[in-house]
Amino acid sequence: MIKCISHKRAYPTQEIAEDALIDARTHFDYADQHGPVSVYHCEDCGQYHLTSRGPANEKLAQSLANGKINRQKEANRWLDKLKRK
Ligand SMILES: [Zn+2]
Repeated sequence: MIKCISHKRAYPTQEIAEDALIDARTHFDYADQHGPVSVYHCEDCGQYHLTSRGPANEKLAQSLANGKINRQKEANRWLDKLKRK
């Protein structure tokens, strides 16, 4: 994987970056205006990064709107509990 001068984690395609974005939102409780909200194409490394700026990514907005993220969050919470035993 190419290292980017931005030192951000790079994703090879927009789709993979969007999956990572949604995954991040299901694993951490972000306040409304915090945490990554979108992905962007980087001119330095030619790959994709997550960003906390700009309008929310369409896929992410959809997942939030249809409750998919909250369901996944709940599932992760239970998985964490089970792992701690
Ligand atoms: Zn980059």
